[in-house]
Amino acid sequence: MKRFFYIVLLILIVAGFIYVYPEIEWSSPEVRVKLESDNLGTRPFDIEVLDSGKGLKNVTVLLAGDHGESILVNKNYPEGVKGDKITIKLDPKILGIKGGAAELKVSAEDRSRLKIFSGNTTTVNKKVNLDLVPPKLDVISTEHYINHGGSGFVVYKSSPDTVKSGVLIADYYFPGYKGHFTDEDVYLAFFAYPHDVQADENIKIFAQDQAGNQKNTGLFYRLRDVKYRKSDINISEKFVENVMIPISEENNSGASHKEIFLKVNNELRKKNNAKIKEMGSNSKDEMMWQGAFHQLSNSKVEANFADERTYFLNEEPIDKQYHLGYDLAVTKRYPIEAANSGVIVYADDLGIYGNTVMIDHGMGILTLYGHMSSIDVAVGDTVQSNEIIGRTGQTGLASGDHLHYGIYINGVAVRPIEWWDEKWIKDNVVNKINEANGEFDSQKEDTSSQN
Ligand SMILES: [Zn+2]
Repeated sequence: MKRFFYIVLLILIVAGFIYVYPEIEWSSPEVRVKLESDNLGTRPFDIEVLDSGKGLKNVTVLLAGDHGESILVNKNYPEGVKGDKITIKLDPKILGIKGGAAELKVSAEDRSRLKIFSGNTTTVNKKVNLDLVPPKLDVISTEHYINHGGSGFVVYKSSPDTVKSGVLIADYYFPGYKGHFTDEDVYLAFFAYPHDVQADENIKIFAQDQAGNQKNTGLFYRLRDVKYRKSDINISEKFVENVMIPISEENNSGASHKEIFLKVNNELRKKNNAKIKEMGSNSKDEMMWQGAFHQLSNSKVEANFADERTYFLNEEPIDKQYHLGYDLAVTKRYPIEAANSGVIVYADDLGIYGNTVMIDHGMGILTLYGHMSSIDVAVGDTVQSNEIIGRTGQTGLASGDHLHYGIYINGVAVRPIEWWDEKWIKDNVVNKINEANGEFDSQKEDTSSQN
């Protein structure tokens, strides 16, 4: 009888274990707090929670500090949820605090029945430096007249907590540079109003601090409309064979002339423009140029900036592209002068642009020289204004000997004519720098006389 009792007991234990086992799990939920640094501001951040077993039951996020404890998240899950990504954006108004030391407390509970009343709980506590106040930002320069497709210049002051600042327009960003003024907190920025951005876009100056708090302020400016030309270009089969096939980087066996054309004029152009963008985005922190930029001596402008070109092959329109510079022609193999002083950052073949030189003039300004027959400079060379860097030619996508000349701000093409104009430079750049310096020098004097 006693033996029978033990057998039944054993069966019950085994049955119970078989029933309960799937309901329990030994691993706790995984919690990942995705903070970019210990500085926590109004920039949104993510918390990822994962449970490989029975799924999540609850996630709670608390912020504890001098102000007490605030519940940021308290979320219950239905059965079967194995993971979640929670995005949190702190609102200083709701929290009623500006900053200070704090602790972020995350706890995630799963549905395991290992414990009778609750599941496995993972708790992650993170000490953070709370900063919910964005930088203070003021625009100093006035009277911003900008041509559509042209360049702009702004001087602004941003508080010392600023780690990144500049100009935003549509999806474009142009960084600001400091160290050019008596006042350490004063920045300057060159920017483009890109030819392909709508005329009703707003230009914003922005500043961001270490905690990711961002301050935006609108810029007062007047945009002048510029009419850009449209032109049709007929491509001959011969041009595809003699000019495009040699610069196309791929094996073209079996490809039609139209396919080869698009590979070069569209795909290779994009790749080449990405390279220019990369060179233009790594500009030096100092202004290496002075005064107006120079047009190639004795040259005439043969093709305009931002011409919209429709390409025809056998009377069929097959592509549309913008010409993002000037074509300047003199005589064959004419010596090319550097438009202003700077450092050579590119001196090599660049697909549709052929043999190409790029000069970084600092603070985002870059000039490009294309279709060259020979290059006389190397990457890293410092060049003075008017120094010979090579000779004109017709390498790349060119149908005659000429110089393709482009000027870029942070890799965005702008109208070169403004930069050739001494008066434009004076009104839009030099005077604004002098004004800002004067203003801040006198402020400095004011405060010292008070002390
Ligand atoms: Zn050109």
